[in-house]
Amino acid sequence: MEKLELLYEGKAKKVYATSDPEKYIVSYKDSATAFNGEKKGEIIGKGEVNNLMSNIIFQLLAKEGIKTHFISELNERETLVRAVSIVPLEVIVRNVAAGSFSKRFGVAEGIELKQPTLEFCLKDDALGDPMINTSQILALSLATPRELERIAYIATRVNEVLSNYFDTINVKLIDFKIEVGRTNNGEIILADEISPDTCRLWDKETGKKLDKDRFRQNLGEVEEAYQEMLNRVSKF
Ligand code: UDP
Repeated sequence: MEKLELLYEGKAKKVYATSDPEKYIVSYKDSATAFNGEKKGEIIGKGEVNNLMSNIIFQLLAKEGIKTHFISELNERETLVRAVSIVPLEVIVRNVAAGSFSKRFGVAEGIELKQPTLEFCLKDDALGDPMINTSQILALSLATPRELERIAYIATRVNEVLSNYFDTINVKLIDFKIEVGRTNNGEIILADEISPDTCRLWDKETGKKLDKDRFRQNLGEVEEAYQEMLNRVSKF
């Protein structure tokens, strides 16, 4: 598949057109940002880890009946995906308090939640990705009621499948963010990536953080943590 013009460049990925209008090529970068772009850096090898790990996870989810944009891995950094138009929402599921949830509600990081939470942020860097509720999403026509139901169902299923899966590789899934897209026939499918950039992943025994919080909080061993996650996922 031929890589044509660059359609979009984000903080961690580039998206290219191909000769087939129904397919895009995603190319993962090593650059890392946090705190709405205030902290910038590079995590060597991150692009490869996120590409390979996300592809393994998307194939696992597909086996469980969750449709994703994944088509095929082209090389260590690039993947062929279904062209979708991204719904401008960050869909966040949490099992354990951490990050902005802990801050906003004054709940200590690590407190197990009685049930998973589902929250939405508007995907808008200039506005700092503000939290948005379902009535606001509907009022702004960002999604239809049926689409929102579908998005909530996908988020819940991804959480169930991945919580169980990570448990088998000795990792606790604390929280994660997904994005969904609309195909040209209007179907909502899982898109973007699922990687240590988009999940909080703690070693089940030691509690060691194996995700982007190592970069955000200057905890050191950032590259090692990404590699460790890929190793565990690849061995499965
Ligand atoms: N997250 C993400 N992209 C974002 C914001 C959050 O992938 O732009 C992920 C983050 O890695 C974590 C979850 O979503 O796994 C919840 O993040 P939180 O709201 O706690 O925000 P943060 O503390 O990362 O600012």
